[in-house]
Amino acid sequence: MLTVELHRHFEAGLRPETIARFAARHHVTEARTRSGQTIPGVDPQVPDSIREYYRTIAAGFTSPDGFTRFADSFGLPLSVLQSLDDLEEAVFDQLIECAARGSVHTELRGSPFTYREHIDAPVAEIAAALVRGVDRAWTERGVSGTFLLAFSRQKGLGEGGQAACVAALAAGLHRPDRPVGLDIAGFPESAYPPRLFEDALRPAREAGVPLTVHGGEQGRAPEFVDAPPELIVEAVERLGARRIGHGTSLAASATARSLLRDRGVAIECCPVSNACMGFTAIASHPLPLFLREGLLASLATDDPLMFGPFTVAETFDAIAGPLHLDAGALLHLTHNGIESAFVSDARRSILRKRLEEATCG
Ligand SMILES: [Zn+2]
Repeated sequence: MLTVELHRHFEAGLRPETIARFAARHHVTEARTRSGQTIPGVDPQVPDSIREYYRTIAAGFTSPDGFTRFADSFGLPLSVLQSLDDLEEAVFDQLIECAARGSVHTELRGSPFTYREHIDAPVAEIAAALVRGVDRAWTERGVSGTFLLAFSRQKGLGEGGQAACVAALAAGLHRPDRPVGLDIAGFPESAYPPRLFEDALRPAREAGVPLTVHGGEQGRAPEFVDAPPELIVEAVERLGARRIGHGTSLAASATARSLLRDRGVAIECCPVSNACMGFTAIASHPLPLFLREGLLASLATDDPLMFGPFTVAETFDAIAGPLHLDAGALLHLTHNGIESAFVSDARRSILRKRLEEATCG
């Protein structure tokens, strides 16, 4: 069965084998967290050692420092990506790997500012290298992907704010026949409502850059006070968001769900991530509700390196039982993913045809 993935953080989507390969290339022998601490007992050139480290991260969310350790664990993949060529190659490889495991279209996302931590290059060159990886996957292998340039909401505004810069980079690289997307990520949602970014993102919106916003993730049922559905509505109405990342708090508002359905705004559901981080148990995830109500919900891994399932297919295997989903639901999710992908009309037609051929053949 073919799948589509629309919500996958690039550096958190690298395989341990890829991290080890880049570590060997750059002679990285010591694993470090993002804050610079040595990670004891982890050899960055040994895939099993990396895998074991992330198993402890995933299992540690219940501890008081679980989130900090998770955020810090991004340091390992970031530390081995040390050149523009590395970025291009790692994007290319990840798209090819996902395609080999059944993804008919994969969207990767990441902040060009983040990769600057280990690459001494202007953010414009970093963004261009990421998009080159996507272009090569298509021209050399016929593998479909899109890159979404992201910024963290807590770093978006004020002096040195990244929102306007990332929006301008996306506008510069975006082409109608090969979109580049934009993503708002970061914590905490409620402290940075979407309306704050309206001015900074306007040039990208006017250039036709498609936007997705992490929203409705960081709260818990029944009221989701830390990530209320009103913020999702605001992202749609004030920023023109075409998709919402997670959107779990939509479970609390039939009005918000109606708005999204009527406007064709899609939801990138990541139930394994939500469960790992302690926000929503898999069995309580509103994905089946979204599908029943005709919302454009698709399925994604979010951060596969940390959360376990590497692909959408593996993610579906983890959630199908608790959510009582059958193979028809996976086909429905793939169909929704194609319809809400940030691609040109011509590419969407190709993806529909590939799905049709795979389903009939
Ligand atoms: Zn995410």
